[in-house]
Amino acid sequence: MKRGLLMPTAAVRNVTDISMELIRKLDIDAILLDVDNTLAPPTSHIAYEGVYEWIAMLKENHIAVVICSNNYKKRVKPFSDSVGLDCVSMSLKPFPFGFNRAKKKLKEKPQSVLVVGDQIYTDVLGANLAGMKSVLLVPRDEEHGLTIGIRRKLEVNVRKKIKIMGE
Ligand SMILES: [Mg+2]
Repeated sequence: MKRGLLMPTAAVRNVTDISMELIRKLDIDAILLDVDNTLAPPTSHIAYEGVYEWIAMLKENHIAVVICSNNYKKRVKPFSDSVGLDCVSMSLKPFPFGFNRAKKKLKEKPQSVLVVGDQIYTDVLGANLAGMKSVLLVPRDEEHGLTIGIRRKLEVNVRKKIKIMGE
């Protein structure tokens, strides 16, 4: 696989580090947001510190936001409701289906869409395959699942080449 397909547009530690300054610099008007290890610990319904305020900031600045997760509806929908966002579950990232479904939920056609998430082989690869920009986060919590261990191992060498902004 071409290395370029695995490289994010930018990388920060936490989702709340994505400032309006960075969003404007990337010329973004819509964001597709991952959930697990991005907005909240895997399976948790309690968002990371500052997430509610960060989402409110995006809304105030007229950035369209839709949650786009590979997890099940019963996990994703209640969480999305709790933060007041529309969502697509079972999105099959890195394939484009879920991103396309999420884009259809936006009221206005976006000019430039940003994908935000903590995984290179789903969030970043998916964004690159779909021609979207991406911001990669550092996962905070351990995640359990059939294939997550493999994807995390594959990430190790790629992450060494990615500079986290401000660090
Ligand atoms: Mg995730």
